Amino acid sequence: MTVKLHGRALSEPMAWTSTAEDSTAGSWRNQRPQLIEAKCTGCNVCWKFCPEPAIDIVGKKVAFDLNVCKGCGVCAEVCAPGAIEMVPEESA
Ligand code: SF4
Ligand code: SF4
Repeated sequence: MTVKLHGRALSEPMAWTSTAEDSTAGSWRNQRPQLIEAKCTGCNVCWKFCPEPAIDIVGKKVAFDLNVCKGCGVCAEVCAPGAIEMVPEESA
């Protein structure tokens, strides 16, 4: 499967750029991912491409760690079934 982000093919998962210990993204993030459970297939693609250790998947259960999630939207971009929606922080 070819995963695309902003029109560019991504062949490899992104390198992690930080650790949970040195990231406090929750204080400045302006949008956050929200799972639409009925659409999730449990494929793990969002977990593979997330640049932070912000996604945990057990079976089909996807959980976002909002202490480290940057709100970059990569997970929503790579989710083929459209099971992740980015929502503004103020409405989340
Ligand atoms: S990429 Fe989408 S369908 Fe796959 S596990 Fe993540 S949320 Fe579920
Ligand atoms: S928006 Fe998605 S890809 Fe980006 S850091 Fe948060 S969980 Fe990871």
